[in-house]
Amino acid sequence: MAERKVRVRFAPSPTGPLHIGGVRTALYNYLFARQHNGDLVFRIEDTDSSRFVPGAEEYIIESFRWLGITFDEGVSFGGSHGPYRQSERRDIYKRYVKELLEKGKAYVAFDTPAELEEKRKEIHNFQYDASTRMGMRNSLAMPQEEVSRLMAAGTQYVVRFKVEPDEDVHVNDLIRGDVVINSSILDDKVLYKSADELPTYHLANIVDDHLMEITHVIRGEEWLPSAPLHVLLYRAFGWEGTMPQFAHLPLLLKPEGNGKLSKRDGDRLGFPVFPLEWHDPKTGESSSGYREAGYLPEAVVNFLALLGWNPGNDQELMSMDELVSLFNLSHCSKAGAKFDYKKGIWFNHEYILRKPDAEVAALFKPVLAGHGVDVAAYNDDYLTRVVGLVKGRVNFVKELWEQARFFFVAPESYAEKDVKKRWSEDTPRIMGELMDVLRGMTDFSSKHAEEVVIGWITEKGYHMGNVMNAFRLAVVGECKGPHMFDITELLGKEETLARIEKAVQAI
Ligand code: GLU
Repeated sequence: MAERKVRVRFAPSPTGPLHIGGVRTALYNYLFARQHNGDLVFRIEDTDSSRFVPGAEEYIIESFRWLGITFDEGVSFGGSHGPYRQSERRDIYKRYVKELLEKGKAYVAFDTPAELEEKRKEIHNFQYDASTRMGMRNSLAMPQEEVSRLMAAGTQYVVRFKVEPDEDVHVNDLIRGDVVINSSILDDKVLYKSADELPTYHLANIVDDHLMEITHVIRGEEWLPSAPLHVLLYRAFGWEGTMPQFAHLPLLLKPEGNGKLSKRDGDRLGFPVFPLEWHDPKTGESSSGYREAGYLPEAVVNFLALLGWNPGNDQELMSMDELVSLFNLSHCSKAGAKFDYKKGIWFNHEYILRKPDAEVAALFKPVLAGHGVDVAAYNDDYLTRVVGLVKGRVNFVKELWEQARFFFVAPESYAEKDVKKRWSEDTPRIMGELMDVLRGMTDFSSKHAEEVVIGWITEKGYHMGNVMNAFRLAVVGECKGPHMFDITELLGKEETLARIEKAVQAI
């Protein structure tokens, strides 16, 4: 058989904001597609109209745009296998439902919800399957004339898949190996409902994967229980030759303790579980997002890539291009991945460090403006150099403000404990001398100023730590910050002198 072009898909249901686990699933599909020069399809699975949430589709598209995960085909991207929204494919599904009925692989059932409820009460662990279906109201159990009469009268019905019992169904999973399930534990799943003329997830999913020529189904572990049914459906249609390969990704687990990661864990420990902020149109509830919390998209991608996969060594920092070349489904783990959100913060720190100062400076501008700084008064070079001096101290761009505010506003007060420790009776006099030394300099560069000032302190026999810390206290407002003479070089002579003068008056 000729090699098929790799085609994978991400197929969310628009039921709300995309959970971070879904983002990881999409990322793995993206990496796999790029690595194999294949296609990534974006399909919207919206056959359950009761769970439809307005805005969810746009939210998902915007999330991937932000993260740099691009699709080749699908809703909003176009392509030759459309439409890509399942609600626009009703007629297609109807044809395939009909085909299964004609082949005897599915049947029509008239049992009402009330009747099914009754059965569940009557029979412990009731399941609609080979052992019970002949006692139910369906086209296998009822005379043909009655079925025709009910259909002609417009009675609502569902179409159920006829699962043959006692057969071992093998799902060959690229991560989990050969998963075997006996068909007797499966029920005759509903594939189609006449009430809304729509297929259920299972039928639509299989028909679309087939028609869209999907070669690999990479999705979350929660879909593993559906996989045997999907294998049986492929067979029922006679499509086993082009059945995709399955890969079920490990669950994302709580950062501490056991169980699945939930929004509540995020609320409790203070980290987002969604890529973007989300305002629920129905409940009015807001949820925080990685973007608004100040994460860089590159950091989020790198962090997520390592939740359930590793490159086979302990390399952690990988660009999207490196991930594309290193990604490998066989290095995905079967065991759940602990959602170590602190690691996400560490990645953000590392990516800020690696990002060119000028780019970080551009991100810093709105933060400055938010703190009332007239950003236009500073040129890009100044901002870039400020960022270069302090960015090693932060995990988020917004934290640059705390580290760099003194580059934009002169101190209005002076840290009390530093004053106590570093400002003595002698200090104003020494600061006066320091001002004379600074005034006399024409070259105010960091290196030269350092030489001159250190030379003067040594010559006078002053206490190095006390003088330098008093100097810092006057200029910064507290005894912290980057190299003192890097600060004064940026502030300039006039501003430095003005600040010392002010401190001498104020303290
Ligand atoms: N619509 C399903 C979801 O919301 C897709 C599952 C699959 O990938 O088969 O995740």
